[in-house]
Amino acid sequence: MSLIPALFGSLVFNDTVMKERLPKETYTALKNTIENGTPLDSNVANIVANTMKDWAVEKGATHFTHWFQPMTGITAEKHDSFISPTDDGRAIMEFSGKELIKGEPDASSFPNGGIRATFEARGYTAWDPTSYAFIKDGSLCIPTAFCAYGGESLDKKTPLLRSMETINTQALRILRLFGNKDVTRVITTVGAEQEYFLIDRKLYEKRRDLILCGRTLFGAKPPKGQELEDHYFGAIKTRVSEYMKDLDKELWRLGILSKTKHNEVAPAQHELAPIFTTTNTATDHNQLTMEMMKKVAERHGLVCLLHEKPFAGVNGSGKHNNWSLCTNTGVNLFEPGKSPYENAQFLLFLSAVIKGVDEYQDLLRISAAGAGNDHRLGANEAPPAIVSMFIGDDLAEVLDAIESGAEYKGKKVKSMNVGVDVLPNIPKDSTDRNRTSPFAFTGNKFEFRMLGSSDSIACTNMMINTIVAEELCGFADILEKADDFDKALTEIIRDTVKKHKRIIFNGNNYSDDWLDEAEKRGLLNLRTTPEALPYYVAEKNLKLFKKHKILTEREIRSRYEILLENYCKVLNIEALTMLDMAKKDILPAVVTYVKELTEAALAKKSLMPGIDRSVEESLIGRLSTLLNRFYGKIGELELALGESKNHTDIQDLSYYYQSEVFARMQELRATGDELESLTASKYWPFPIYADLLFSI
Ligand code: ADP
Ligand code: MG
Repeated sequence: MSLIPALFGSLVFNDTVMKERLPKETYTALKNTIENGTPLDSNVANIVANTMKDWAVEKGATHFTHWFQPMTGITAEKHDSFISPTDDGRAIMEFSGKELIKGEPDASSFPNGGIRATFEARGYTAWDPTSYAFIKDGSLCIPTAFCAYGGESLDKKTPLLRSMETINTQALRILRLFGNKDVTRVITTVGAEQEYFLIDRKLYEKRRDLILCGRTLFGAKPPKGQELEDHYFGAIKTRVSEYMKDLDKELWRLGILSKTKHNEVAPAQHELAPIFTTTNTATDHNQLTMEMMKKVAERHGLVCLLHEKPFAGVNGSGKHNNWSLCTNTGVNLFEPGKSPYENAQFLLFLSAVIKGVDEYQDLLRISAAGAGNDHRLGANEAPPAIVSMFIGDDLAEVLDAIESGAEYKGKKVKSMNVGVDVLPNIPKDSTDRNRTSPFAFTGNKFEFRMLGSSDSIACTNMMINTIVAEELCGFADILEKADDFDKALTEIIRDTVKKHKRIIFNGNNYSDDWLDEAEKRGLLNLRTTPEALPYYVAEKNLKLFKKHKILTEREIRSRYEILLENYCKVLNIEALTMLDMAKKDILPAVVTYVKELTEAALAKKSLMPGIDRSVEESLIGRLSTLLNRFYGKIGELELALGESKNHTDIQDLSYYYQSEVFARMQELRATGDELESLTASKYWPFPIYADLLFSI
């Protein structure tokens, strides 16, 4: 079974390929660029480009593209062929270092939040040598950053790369303080678990809401939903299993470590988890995974839905971002240690996360904000909009003991084994699972569960890296100057626990009690995207990103605006689609059914004037009343949409869409769903929930 190892990464210009194909000096120079950021000279770039091209052409590629991640949240590409004319009328395949390093897509239509006026619409893409190039659909894809002509970043990747540098710098300062001299680089690792729905393509094609919005805008609750919980981890149906096998193969070719697959809670819902890797690679891989999920589905007559809430009444889809810090010597910094000093170091890193999550709850919430995810977070689904942290009871006990200065008598640890003042030993494997926490410590990593299934993980990791770097920086500033290191260290940890323990919550995050409790603790509860986004431009956050050179104020303001704009546009499209379906499909269908009922009643009457027609008449009556109400709700939604023109400020407009337009949409839907439950199947204009969820 050596098939899979041969398949794995076969479409990736990875380290092995580089080592094999590049001249030794070129390989060393490139490695130096990848690992230490040393600028690449044009000679080296030319050799790399030519080697890449030869490799890609051998694999059947004819084109190349800079592959980037603009603020749309998906990836972008513009393909050029390798073809170059010769004097004698032939063509040869060429690819230069210049083309590898820099591209200038005509990029005036990417969201830029006011950074680029159209007269200076040029943006450029710059090779990111830290991500491997790969082949997709006959094109050599070169991962790049995307910037405006003035240098401002217009993509998700650039600030992520900057944040990885920052956390490396700050984590190294801490490691040096603990006497570590071998580690030269600290990297962040991420494994992104991806949820998705699979439905039949033929049914999908009959629903304009799914086609245009990715989610159902109408649909009455089916008799069976997820209440039996018979889908979760259940046997995978043949058709789905074929799909998953095919998908795995595509992902393995691209060097993506797809590892685990299982059925999720909702009917037709599934999950894929890869083995974790470096954050920027994990980000590329997650984008490619989402793309491949959709593409492979097509081959199987299926459609993969990545929307956060395709169906009301059953679970939505999220993405779990597992995050940790790892040294280049292979040590996971969130692995509780064996020796007292290792423990102390672990507790310090843990403190940085606790303090960071508490001080920057808003940023974490923003990193998962969007119209789609509001259906989960704002609706107290999984998890709620309140950011809190789970660390497990044992670790909580350790922190309690540190706070009170009391002796910690751990359940599993008998000896105190303290070398650093009063810092106790950490019980191993002390993290029971809490599946409701938005930010859970799961033994040696943190699992951030707020992300929506369609989100890019770049923003979240940029936020986590930056806030943890900021706290590590603050700690290092104190510790580097401390006369008594052990004492200062203990004080930092104790102080963090005292001031920030409100963010720790080990209970059930879905309970109503938690809402009250969180409010008492002063934690933020930003239910909707319009409520969350203004925090992006809060003074403390502008300061944070500026200090660590992640984003300038102009870049942040542009992102804030892009996110708001996107929110308003999504709601506008949804509202228009609803109106379209309501007027062109639902109304005519119900009218036709009422006509049939009326004709049936009349036919009965002419045949036998005295016969009971109460069923027909009652149905006609109920449907007519509902139809009337439905028509009224259409008018109200139209009016609300029309009035959106009165809101010129984008933040103001987003609130308006949230409170007015969305509310009218909900009302229209409720009436439409009632009509569905009373209308004969053969008249209903599109597939219903039971078909969509249980047809595979
Ligand atoms: P679950 O969360 O379902 O219990 P696991 O704990 O096995 O599952 O892992 C979930 C995800 O976390 C996987 O993608 C895995 O690769 C990733 N993961 C494991 N260790 C780390 C780590 N040190 N850094 C980042 N991600 C990790
Ligand atoms: Mg998980």
